[in-house]
Amino acid sequence: MSKYIFITGGVVSSLGKGISGASIGKLLQLRGFKVNMIKFDPYINIDPGTMNPYQHGEVFVTADGAESDLDLGTYERFLDVYTSKANTNTAGDIYKTVINRERRGDYDGATVQVIPHITDEIKKRFAALKNKCDISIIEIGGTVGDIEGLPFMEAARQFQLENKKEDIFSIHVTLVPYIAGAHELKTKPTQHSVNKLREIGISPDMIICRTEYHLDESLKRKISLFCNVKKECVIEAMDAPSIYFIPEAFYDQKVDSLIIEELNMKTKKKFDKTWFTKIKSLGEFNKTVKVAVVGKYADLKDAYKSIDESLNIAATELKAKAEIHYLGAEDKDLVRKLKDFDAILVPGGFGNRGVEGKIKAITYARKNKIPFLGICLGMQCSVIEASRNLAKLKNANSTEFDETTKYPVIKILEEQKNVSYRGGTMRLGNYKAEIKKDALAHNLYKSIAIEERHRHRYEMNPEFIDILEKVGLSVTAYHKGVLPEIVEIKDHPFFLGVQFHPEFASRPMKAHPIFKGFLSAALKVSK
Ligand code: GLN
Repeated sequence: MSKYIFITGGVVSSLGKGISGASIGKLLQLRGFKVNMIKFDPYINIDPGTMNPYQHGEVFVTADGAESDLDLGTYERFLDVYTSKANTNTAGDIYKTVINRERRGDYDGATVQVIPHITDEIKKRFAALKNKCDISIIEIGGTVGDIEGLPFMEAARQFQLENKKEDIFSIHVTLVPYIAGAHELKTKPTQHSVNKLREIGISPDMIICRTEYHLDESLKRKISLFCNVKKECVIEAMDAPSIYFIPEAFYDQKVDSLIIEELNMKTKKKFDKTWFTKIKSLGEFNKTVKVAVVGKYADLKDAYKSIDESLNIAATELKAKAEIHYLGAEDKDLVRKLKDFDAILVPGGFGNRGVEGKIKAITYARKNKIPFLGICLGMQCSVIEASRNLAKLKNANSTEFDETTKYPVIKILEEQKNVSYRGGTMRLGNYKAEIKKDALAHNLYKSIAIEERHRHRYEMNPEFIDILEKVGLSVTAYHKGVLPEIVEIKDHPFFLGVQFHPEFASRPMKAHPIFKGFLSAALKVSK
């Protein structure tokens, strides 16, 4: 059996198609089905790796090293699964595959066209994971009517034609705006959006309406009639205090049973509501922990989506609420602002901008014994900080920011240049590391062998390890005994820098040990 659920969006972008898809996936998973989610992004970039987080939010890295859309993080967290390269596709990558094939002469002299060559490649990718699951949930990025999305919509239409009706369920996510002056919710944008979709040849089986207010029965009936969708398949999606409450809101509207029925499937097991109860109980807390995230993209939370999620997940397990503030690393007043916080986190990043501010924040955390977590660039900054201020290596730096520095404490290692890593010189995806016994990290992981996701080019320079260890910054984990993975300062409540990205591995009810340890230390010193 291979069944498919297609999710398209209309009216405006950012409607949370990913969250809707993941919530439906969760319900189907709780019914015993094996679900996979595949994202299709219609832009020309090969992957979002090179895109500015302001445009696209965080780059989520899969265990097998794909640089992908942040929706894959949502899928992983909701479904507690590991996605891979096959779960993320872009128009750029699809065109590249077709063009490479054309260059090799594989098309035998044919004129290579959007239909059928591009659409064939898209359809192949729709079905890529069919043998690994019962249901593939396919999310097409963008909004219906976008020029670049057309080949994807066309492929979805053809896919319907070539498969049995009972194997495909189509969901359209739209917005039902509230017009304050008229005190009214408006269905017209939804009607237009569904019309557009039907022009392409796709008739949705379900409409998920994002709305600020309840949809009454007459409104649902209106949408049902105008859009040719059964009334019970007009679903209300109100803003929720937590995205993890959405599966239950959908369950209450029978979203899963409606889909199962339409797809002619048999529920594999009795619905177990424990997940809903557990998720709800996580919202109970009696203390607050204030965390400063000092980064380049202070005004865009999505740029640090997985970090935000990881902190929230860890805090709830500690029965606390994480109050997370994003502080701009270039803010002149940064150090003064840090005085209000229980913990300081410096996240990953690329490029020079804000680096000196991040280093100042680390000096502050180190000297004032504020729990500190440095991730990737944040870890590299902590090495620079200790080199300059503890080891007195004047102007020590990463060669990413100063190619001619006398003390290149972070650099691209020769060994690394010779290794053919996935993604060229970038270390991407899962790499193993071995932690030293009795290190803080060992205490947190309760294990020596770990495997975590990476996304970086530069490494801590092993030539400086001895000097830094003498002044208190020790390397407590290595990859293959050579590449430093974790640094720590002992005489401190919590000072940890990690070359990898633990934020990609957090799951609700399964907080990552590093985030849990970090916030637990913060709660101890909490003001
Ligand atoms: N810019 C640094 C590097 O390439 C850190 C990357 C990151 O933080 N993801 O090594």
